[in-house]
Amino acid sequence: MTMTLALLAEKFNYYNREMFEGRLPVPPLKLSTARSFLGQLRYKKERRLFGRWRYSDFTLVMSTRYDLEESMFDDILIHEMIHYDILYHQQHDTSAHGRLFRSKMQEINRRYGRNLSISHRLTPEERENDREIRTHYVGLIRFTNLDVALIVAAKSRLQFLRKAIPRVPYVDSCHWFISHNPYFNRYPRAQKIKFYPTTEEELSRYSLDFIPLD
Ligand SMILES: [Zn+2]
Repeated sequence: MTMTLALLAEKFNYYNREMFEGRLPVPPLKLSTARSFLGQLRYKKERRLFGRWRYSDFTLVMSTRYDLEESMFDDILIHEMIHYDILYHQQHDTSAHGRLFRSKMQEINRRYGRNLSISHRLTPEERENDREIRTHYVGLIRFTNLDVALIVAAKSRLQFLRKAIPRVPYVDSCHWFISHNPYFNRYPRAQKIKFYPTTEEELSRYSLDFIPLD
């Protein structure tokens, strides 16, 4: 599914009419390639008298990073719309996904047969769909017991890691490569030594575009 701002606005208006009685004004909408969230409601929170809060300046952001099923994308949008409904109307919930949020969510699931949840987790297949091309500094570590591991270095820590890893006990060899394979997007950029176990078989699938660094 290719998402555009126009399509997102259309979906927002549709669900607003269907599920929220049209009571939500369209906030600024944004598309993002964030990895860290699927949908996000941004807003300003100001303290008022008597410990009350006032919520304003809403922006609804949807990540297009992963190629999701349309129904899952829409569930995430509706989830964010529930947050918006609560905060726009200055309602106070028991927590971020408190009693009020849950009762609205459960009602929508029941009445419209949706699968909204408190947190949407990506399946490994959806993570595979992260296609952004980035440069990865991949260290391939072989241990004396024949185990294999890899590490994707933060660029600023590459020189440190290149020196430090061979001194770790039981490390037999460490070779560094540059790769642009999106497969490595899933690994955090390591600042410190950390080994991610892998297998020769898995590596043979992902090391095709490896450019040796040494
Ligand atoms: Zn939420």
